[in-house]
Amino acid sequence: MSHPKGMPPRQEGLQVDISKAETIVCENCGNASFIQAYFLKRISAVMSPTGKEAIVPMQVFSCGNCGTIPQNMLEQSGVGQESKIQ
Ligand SMILES: [Zn+2]
Repeated sequence: MSHPKGMPPRQEGLQVDISKAETIVCENCGNASFIQAYFLKRISAVMSPTGKEAIVPMQVFSCGNCGTIPQNMLEQSGVGQESKIQ
């Protein structure tokens, strides 16, 4: 009884090997590290549930090398159509 076996902590169900997950890289330069950025969406008084204009920040990620924001994030935020600045 001098060698009790401890059960290693295991998480059932949600086991994700992050090293095997796809790494998102910048579409523009191939860089793999991103920095946090925010789009600011203006909710007009007409659209706002409070009846007042509101600024809503939307977090996105911006390439740490060239600043490009992944296209899918642009589309989700509705910015994609406006900013074709490459
Ligand atoms: Zn880049």
